[in-house]
Formats: sequence, C-alpha cells, structure tokens
Amino acid sequence: MNYIVFICPRCGLARYAKEGQKTAKCLGCGYQIQINPQKIRIIAKAENMEEAINIVKFYKIRGKHSLEFSRADD
Ligand SMILES: [Zn+2]
Repeated sequence: MNYIVFICPRCGLARYAKEGQKTAKCLGCGYQIQINPQKIRIIAKAENMEEAINIVKFYKIRGKHSLEFSRADD
C-alpha cells in the first residue's frame, strides 16, 4: 500500500493518507480535504505508513507549522 503526504489547503499542516483515498480530515483545522492531486499539494510519496509518518514528522520539525498534533489515524 502506497501513501501520499500532502498539505492541508486551509491551514498548511502536513498529513498523510493512503493513495487512492478520496478524502482526509485535517488534524489541525478539521477541514475535510478532497484528495485530488490537481487541488492539493502533495509533498511526498511513501511505500508504507511508517515512512509516511516519518515524512509528516520531518515536515513538522522543519518548522512549517507549529501546531501540535498527536497521531494521524484513519
Ligand atoms: Zn488544516
């Protein structure tokens, strides 16, 4: 299963979802994100969930967004 890591179009928080998933709720602002590659900014692809989580963490550590969030579970 492949995963994509993308940016919430409303608040800029990174999160991940399974590739092929249609929507995902942002953990930062609660926005229901339509996972459409034409509409959202995909920053990375991952081959498994752990890799996707690591990318999200890395993005967060880089300081793009200071909002605290615990876990991205679907
Ligand atoms: Zn958001």
